[in-house]
Amino acid sequence: MNEYDIIAIGGGPAGLTVGLYGGRYGLKTLIIEKQLVGGAMAISPLIENYPGVEPIKGTDLTERMKQQSNYYGAETKELVSVTELDPDEKIITLNTGEQVKGKVIIFATGSRHRLLNVPGEEEYTGKGVSYCATCDAHFFRNRKVITVGGGNSAAIEALHLVKIVGELHIVHRRDKLRAEASYIKQINEANIGFYWNSIVKEILGDGRKVTSVLLSDVKTEKVQEIPVSGVFVSVGYDPNNELALDAGIELDEFGYIRVDKKMQTNIEGIYAAGDITGGQKQLTVSTGQATTAVMNAFLYLHGGNWYG
Ligand code: NAP
Repeated sequence: MNEYDIIAIGGGPAGLTVGLYGGRYGLKTLIIEKQLVGGAMAISPLIENYPGVEPIKGTDLTERMKQQSNYYGAETKELVSVTELDPDEKIITLNTGEQVKGKVIIFATGSRHRLLNVPGEEEYTGKGVSYCATCDAHFFRNRKVITVGGGNSAAIEALHLVKIVGELHIVHRRDKLRAEASYIKQINEANIGFYWNSIVKEILGDGRKVTSVLLSDVKTEKVQEIPVSGVFVSVGYDPNNELALDAGIELDEFGYIRVDKKMQTNIEGIYAAGDITGGQKQLTVSTGQATTAVMNAFLYLHGGNWYG
């Protein structure tokens, strides 16, 4: 069985930072990612708030982080998922049947987009319903689409969509967005319509594609049918915590992994970093937390401290 000093489960910005720091500290480091590396960063149309980096596409920043991690010797397994973690032995079983052992495990499993859970959503996913403007906006050139949600993700998706689709409206259950002021300013300056105080009640189609949505006014409960070709859903994220739960790692009341100041979980030698720890869900936070986790993992493996 291959043994590593550190294994990161998840290859988003936190996992890739584990690769960078682990590699640079001379630790034999493995990143396991069930899809392709990059996580939520990879599908972000434009990242404007990573210090020192010009506004950059998520795919491009992902490529840079991946190359940097590889350069310092971290190994990456993509399209491979973890099916089991033995928390005492720190043995990981992969869906390929292979087992790998880590002296330290760092959970960087991130979160997954939340569903609207309305009729038609599942049926029309990939046929007009999308969770990724970067991936799918171009299918809706010259067409009317809505984006649902009022947070930062919805705002960023809207700012990308409006450049590509024929007509864009934001559907939000409140009467104002709660995205960052800088995004709201850009949205107000763009050609975007709004359906305030509205929720999607149902997504309708002809069997092959979306044709309209039923919007319900949260105050009056009045329902109106709006013809649209696309529904982009950006209503937040839920933690990818199943593996942690199975391994007996403590979660908070929202399902995020509880960590101490060292980013260590309730199990010695098992750390967590990034969106799976909850909180602000910023790239800078994820990379910072992963840095903290690796530096403390290094002390856990080799002793000493960072203070003298
Ligand atoms: P979020 O901040 O949780 O916002 C989710 C939005 O969807 C809210 O406006 C919420 O409405 C709405 N919503 C939730 N469930 C809904 C439902 N069932 N139907 C209709 N609307 C629903 O999620 P997010 O925007 O995906 O962001 C997640 C985290 O990542 C946040 O911490 C965010 O700051 C961070 N993030 C940061 C950036 C950045 O550039 N700084 C970029 C992306 C994400 P209410 O307002 O009524 O709750």
